[in-house]
Amino acid sequence: MNKKVAVVTGANRGIGYAIVDKLCSMFDGIIYLTARDEELGLKAVKQLQTTNPESEKKVKFHQLDITNVESIHRLAEHIKKTHGGLDILINNAAIAFKSNDITPFGDQAEITAQTNFFGTINVCNALFPLLRDHARIVNISSRAGMLDSIKNPEIRQNLIAPTATIESVSDILNDFIKKAKQNSHQDDGYPNSSYGMSKIALTAATMIQQRVFDEKSDKDIVVNACCPGYVNTDMTSRRGAGTPEQGADTPVYLATLEPNIKSPRGEFVAERRILKW
Ligand code: NDP
Repeated sequence: MNKKVAVVTGANRGIGYAIVDKLCSMFDGIIYLTARDEELGLKAVKQLQTTNPESEKKVKFHQLDITNVESIHRLAEHIKKTHGGLDILINNAAIAFKSNDITPFGDQAEITAQTNFFGTINVCNALFPLLRDHARIVNISSRAGMLDSIKNPEIRQNLIAPTATIESVSDILNDFIKKAKQNSHQDDGYPNSSYGMSKIALTAATMIQQRVFDEKSDKDIVVNACCPGYVNTDMTSRRGAGTPEQGADTPVYLATLEPNIKSPRGEFVAERRILKW
């Protein structure tokens, strides 16, 4: 039988690295620690070997820049050729501008969306065809992207409507970017946070992805979004209260949900509990 395979994006540091570490003891298979920078990724694999002997047989490196479609397709081809399928995908890679960054807000909105939403969706599009029965996908979102931070009820409704699609969510995010460039996003009821808006779109997309799997696939595939908590990483300038290991707990729990689980499916989860998004 083929060995099981997991992919973790943005895993050279922070929560992604801790997820790979934790998965070693929870998952019987090959775990791809991916990173956009090959040198940093290989260094992370080596570092892990010094603290986690199990990683030596389980963890492999593959380059992946989620904003680069060629890089995404190279990874997808490699997984297909080498393993023939995929069992776990953890979409962890993301960016957040620091509050004192002088990049114009409209540009921040665009750059953040390109990575956190469109990049992640492109990874899903390339890897979803490889998912095997009982595959689990975890989209790492954030409480910074709660639905009610959008003040316009029509936009909120359009994000969660049973007719919502990845395309319609993409259109809303593109509209936010357009309005952000005109500095009128708040007049339209959008939040004043590029990061928050990118994560709102990601959580909305997660619910759509589960609906589409349930409608179109007879495999047991489960996708959930989660918030890892406020964690001490570079992203939070080390201000988070939790450790990366604590931040990895819910993502790894969701990635290893037992076969044929009824709940959580297509939910927003934090500290292993379903939250009202
Ligand atoms: P870090 O900033 O510490 O790490 C982010 C990781 O993503 C790095 O490995 C980075 O790589 C990678 N990355 C960024 N852009 C790309 C790209 N284009 N392609 C591939 N990898 C990329 O963040 P955290 O560990 O704190 O965050 C992990 C996840 O958790 C993110 O989705 C974040 O939004 C979410 N989250 C974090 C919270 C926290 O308190 N820390 C709270 C809520 C959510 P590189 O080293 O090359 O930059």
